[in-house]
Amino acid sequence: MKSQISFWMTQLDEPLTPRATLTSDITADVVIIGAGYTGLWTAYYLKQQSPDLKVVMVEAEVAGFGASGRNGGWVIGGLLGEERILAKLGADARADMHHILQGLPDEVGRVIQKENIACDFRKGGVIYAAARYPEQEKRMRSWLANLHSLGYTEADYYWLNPSELAEQLIVDRAYGAVFSPNLATIQPAKLVRALARVVEALGVPIYEKSPVTDWQPGVVTTPQAKVTADWVVPAIEGYAATLAPFDRYQLPVQSLMIATEPLSASVWDQIGLNRGQAFSESSRQVTYGQRSADDRMIFGARGGYQFGGKLRTDFHLTTAETELRQYLMGEMFPVLKKANITHRWGGNLGMARRFMPHMLLDRQHQLALSGGYGGEGVAATNLGGRTLADLILGKQTNLTRQPWVRKEGSVYRLSRWEPEPLRWLGYNSIIRSFVHEDQTLANPHAPAWRRKLALAIAGKMESLMC
Ligand SMILES: Cc1cc2nc3c(=O)[nH]c(=O)nc-3n(C[C@H](O)[C@H](O)[C@H](O)COP(=O)(O)OP(=O)(O)OC[C@H]3O[C@@H](n4cnc5c(N)ncnc54)[C@H](O)[C@@H]3O)c2cc1C
Repeated sequence: MKSQISFWMTQLDEPLTPRATLTSDITADVVIIGAGYTGLWTAYYLKQQSPDLKVVMVEAEVAGFGASGRNGGWVIGGLLGEERILAKLGADARADMHHILQGLPDEVGRVIQKENIACDFRKGGVIYAAARYPEQEKRMRSWLANLHSLGYTEADYYWLNPSELAEQLIVDRAYGAVFSPNLATIQPAKLVRALARVVEALGVPIYEKSPVTDWQPGVVTTPQAKVTADWVVPAIEGYAATLAPFDRYQLPVQSLMIATEPLSASVWDQIGLNRGQAFSESSRQVTYGQRSADDRMIFGARGGYQFGGKLRTDFHLTTAETELRQYLMGEMFPVLKKANITHRWGGNLGMARRFMPHMLLDRQHQLALSGGYGGEGVAATNLGGRTLADLILGKQTNLTRQPWVRKEGSVYRLSRWEPEPLRWLGYNSIIRSFVHEDQTLANPHAPAWRRKLALAIAGKMESLMC
């Protein structure tokens, strides 16, 4: 089972033997559906603040089965859509938001240290490299200027010229990069499995192989038994398709990854990344990578979307899916063009209609919800867990006042995805325009007019997303 989930899971010492299944009806103060980071962080912060609260978790498979046990391990000091949120805020609110978001990797690191979790946490920052075609430099410079106009400083995000970039990351065609120190890398499966043990030790039972098949206010039903609780926390993110009505608000989109065999020191001398930095090559293919603690190159890129919001369950990558990732990686690092790919996997992540996360407390339906992180959920789930804990405990805090906490307080008022076939057509048209842009710009012989047109179409399509 480990290898069917991800490369990361294969590195664990423990077997993935499921914990007990829920076999008889129980009551609790809070029931959490899903034992990924969102559910586990929520349980953790609830128990930190209110040790006597009765919190239980029900998980369809085993803790970490979802995206939390599969991801790229970027602990990002930011949120999907944060620039659009910041643009609407005044200076004080911006400063507050910067403080919260930039502090996310440190908060994750603090708990990791406090709870003695070994998950290869390294705060080495992130390199958004313009590394494949010249248009990437313009795009990255304009992104940097926008971040600075929104109140981020030179200490938060700064430009690396090609020779500064080469001190950290050696790429074939270096045009420069945006660097941010506010990102850590982790071994994600080690974190999620350890967090499950931590919350269990705090008195939170995790019932595994117990899929929730129905939800009503205050009651969740699994195949053998029910949990009745004051609050239900659906922490199912990319699996929202499994449980109505959450499927209307979070769409399952895939991200797919590859890992090489451990690479020799001489190969790493030709790449860099010697202090835990993460990197991306900054195209709209949404690529991300890191050097694992055992010296593999871990590299991922955006995957597809299935008609009707159908959940993808088989993550044996097709030849085309593997080759695309290998091609993108080889474009950056020619030394890896023929590298031995030992692992291929992927997972479902949850995309909200407004392409930014939402958190809310819905009193009428006894729900506390956090999700829609897109591909930027590792740190955001920590924010979600802390925020939901405050909301459930009735605390008005700086976290509960933030703009991603939805004031309307009803799950049914979140923006819905369009019905099919509009969703599928829309998503695929946008992705096609991104692929077309990438293929055109990566072709050094493409004439200027074709490059401009491809950029304009992809840019327009991207703006339609939000
Ligand atoms: C390949 C990949 C790479 C990524 N890389 C990054 C990255 O580098 N950085 C980053 O910030 N984000 C990344 N993400 C996104 C990030 O991993 C997720 O946003 C985050 O893990 C979501 O955590 P979660 O707990 O909300 O959901 P999940 O981890 O998906 O957990 C949901 C859990 O709910 C369970 N479940 C589902 N349905 C039911 C049900 N009906 N009843 C009971 N249980 C149920 C599932 O089995 C699962 O364990 C990536 C995602 C993927 C797929």
